[in-house]
Amino acid sequence: MIPKSHPRYKSLLSRDKIVNAYKSGILADSGMIAHGRGEAFDYLIGEKTTETAEKAIEAAAAALILAKNPVISVNGNTTALVPEHVVKLAEVLGAKIEINLFYRTPKRVKTIWKFLKDQGAGEILGTEEEDFKHIEGLDSPRGSVSPEGMYKADVILVPLEDGDRTEVLVNEGKFVIAVDLNPLSRTAKTASLTIVDNITRAMPCLTRKVNKLKTKNPDELKKLMDNFNNINNLKESLKIMLNSINEFE
Ligand code: ATP
Ligand code: MG
Repeated sequence: MIPKSHPRYKSLLSRDKIVNAYKSGILADSGMIAHGRGEAFDYLIGEKTTETAEKAIEAAAAALILAKNPVISVNGNTTALVPEHVVKLAEVLGAKIEINLFYRTPKRVKTIWKFLKDQGAGEILGTEEEDFKHIEGLDSPRGSVSPEGMYKADVILVPLEDGDRTEVLVNEGKFVIAVDLNPLSRTAKTASLTIVDNITRAMPCLTRKVNKLKTKNPDELKKLMDNFNNINNLKESLKIMLNSINEFE
């Protein structure tokens, strides 16, 4: 048990979830390494949702509300850290949830499916391999997607995504929203919109924003999207990180 008074309570809680997810087969070993990379960047950003990230979250909420076919792509890390928020966001948006894994095994898919179901998820796509469509430019199994999910999606939320897959999805004409603490990653740079924030803070914040914005008219939402520039937003996040180093005393 981690005492709530511990100064690094939230971080330790996440580590605990990551380790347990590895032990139960939800997470591949490399998922733990990815988590460590994220933590390093979280220190630099001050372990909080910055105003810059909030702007990205607002534009992401607008894109998801305007989407005809929104899909939330989940992997091991996302399932380990924010399963309840994936379920809630999908519900609020009427979005589909699709399991998409770098290290895919039938057993891991089943374990993730069960874990999300226990959190109240509705239909979960990405489990019926025989129906899969293939996205050009990516070797299996990462390029294999559900015909009813990512294949026909117009907006895809891909927390903690890999760079080359993001690029291929964007080239396919999809609006790809990434959540990535590393503003220098290929994912962050190639996504249509990147939220530089910890997924544990970004997901509940995104759901709140969707709830707040969903009654706005489409023109207002479109304006929020159009006013957002991903590269500038990434530069702002990097500046915050650099300032935290320069202002160290
Ligand atoms: P890329 O392929 O995009 O160049 P990469 O190979 O370093 O990057 P991946 O393993 O493909 O990274 O994806 C994991 C990414 O997720 C990393 O950039 C890491 O910083 C980030 N990350 C890890 N944990 C979190 C978290 N809790 N919240 C947000 N981002 C995270
Ligand atoms: Mg990668």
